[in-house]
Amino acid sequence: MDYQHHLLTGFLVGIVFIMLTHSFLGWFEVSLFSFLLFSFVIFIYSLLPDLDHPLSNITWLFIFVSLSILILGVSLKEDFYFYSGTGILLFTFICSKLFKHRGFIHSIFAGLIFSIPLYHFGIEFSLLGVVCYYSHLALDGLYFKVF
Ligand SMILES: [Zn+2]
Repeated sequence: MDYQHHLLTGFLVGIVFIMLTHSFLGWFEVSLFSFLLFSFVIFIYSLLPDLDHPLSNITWLFIFVSLSILILGVSLKEDFYFYSGTGILLFTFICSKLFKHRGFIHSIFAGLIFSIPLYHFGIEFSLLGVVCYYSHLALDGLYFKVF
């Protein structure tokens, strides 16, 4: 499946999840910040499993963003940006080079781990990450790949 299909499916599944949980549970407040954050989460997490492929769009995006943050850190002499950029670059390298394509990274367990940082913004964003991550796995035909 190519990245457009993953994005389209991720957005459809993500929007349905948001609408259902918003109307039944009152999740996802109506605000610009919430809108930008859930769009970002859907975009990243519906493509994130392909970080285990060295030439995927999400891998190139992560390399570009991490290098930009790293260069920003060097030019501003800001340690936080430098180490953040280095950390994301290292994470991208490990996922794309040390894991085989459609191996562990393409699993429900990896999706759960990668969605933990979103808990910072609330449990609903963590679960949205898991749902979008799973939409990618399902589209790849890996419905029950736990590990
Ligand atoms: Zn995939």
